[in-house]
Amino acid sequence: MKKSPKFDPATRIQNSFHGGSFGDVNPEITDSATFMFAKGADMTATFHGEKEGCFLYSRHWNPTNLNLANALAAMEGTEAAWVTASGMGAITNAMLQLVGAGDHIVASPTVYGGTFAFLKNYLPKFNIEVTFVDSTKPAAVEKAIRKNTKFIYTETMNNPMLRIADIPALSRIAKKHKVKLVVDNTFTPMIFSPARLGADIVVYSMTKFINGKNDCVAGAICGSKEFINSLIDVNNGTSMLLGPVLDPLRASSILKNLYTLHIRMKQHSHNALYLSKRFKEIGLKANYPGMSEHPDHKLMVRDMNAEFGFGGMIAIDLETAEKANFMMETMQKKGVGYLAVSLGYFKTLFSNSGKSTSSEIPEEFQKGMGLSEGLVRFSVGLDNDIENTFALIKESFELTQKKFAGTSTRATKTKAKARK
Ligand SMILES: *Cc1c(COP(=O)(O)O)cnc(C)c1O
Repeated sequence: MKKSPKFDPATRIQNSFHGGSFGDVNPEITDSATFMFAKGADMTATFHGEKEGCFLYSRHWNPTNLNLANALAAMEGTEAAWVTASGMGAITNAMLQLVGAGDHIVASPTVYGGTFAFLKNYLPKFNIEVTFVDSTKPAAVEKAIRKNTKFIYTETMNNPMLRIADIPALSRIAKKHKVKLVVDNTFTPMIFSPARLGADIVVYSMTKFINGKNDCVAGAICGSKEFINSLIDVNNGTSMLLGPVLDPLRASSILKNLYTLHIRMKQHSHNALYLSKRFKEIGLKANYPGMSEHPDHKLMVRDMNAEFGFGGMIAIDLETAEKANFMMETMQKKGVGYLAVSLGYFKTLFSNSGKSTSSEIPEEFQKGMGLSEGLVRFSVGLDNDIENTFALIKESFELTQKKFAGTSTRATKTKAKARK
């Protein structure tokens, strides 16, 4: 049997740029809001989307943004992409382009807190209904689809439980019911290529791994040429009219960081797998999709681009928020990393999900997804000496265990009270 050629997002990015107009090895930064036309007729045609290759106004397209968008489309294997000023800008614009009043969405409840809040609190203002269904259960997702459903929404690797969605199965369901499948791949760029697995639209917060420098917020929408053009249609394109365009100065710096994404992803994954194995040895309850006991390990192995590893995210359960806070403060003092939200940085970042990035998700949903109040999410850094990092985490864990020894967890406390 002939092996199909490997999909290589990193090489595709490297090959997406062919030099600037002066032989520049990095694309020029086009620092312009507006663009001149030699002929009035060309301006009219560009304005009406009838002519390609001309730039009109930077809220629509800017050459620097186009270079970054082309690299992202190459990475995803989509026809086109468009870059936004934040991940939420990408997510909300992609969604609003697909729905109108009276429409319906099937979405996973285990999504980024801001995405959840938009679906739960914001869209109902426009009479758009959302049914939340665990996207790791494709049969339940299919059951929730109605006549007026426009799309299914999920994250590839979800936040913060690190469950993996079966994108091919969800794609089959979406196609069968003629709805779109929109996937947030922020946690796993390069590791998963959701469009290759059947997603129609892939969205990113580039703030995280893609840029990897924590110096700005940014986002991206990858999809068909038709969809991207519809977003920036001057008459009714959501992005053209709401205007969350990325600044070209930032687009330029993000593109340069994108060129090293493959190396960073491999190192994040290497370090996270190492830590997960060592955590297990010291009895620290860790959740990492690279471990064979993770419920979606096999699924991930089936669908991933293996060379990039299982990603940089680990979730550990310290049972109570007090314990989690003490452990995080201790790790920060010892130099393990920073007690901060966000992910994909060169330093390890940790936060207590239930009280921070997932706090928009109501408690009943948090419980349903198994989110303990003591859950600490790690975005493992690019540490060269990960053994030393582990040693510092181990010391922090031992100090935490010692401090809380004898104090029962909340659950046993309530039980004790009930017995009295
Ligand atoms: C951070 C994040 C977002 C939001 O992106 P911003 O760049 O902060 O607007 C969306 N989805 C996921 C999975 C994220 O981690």
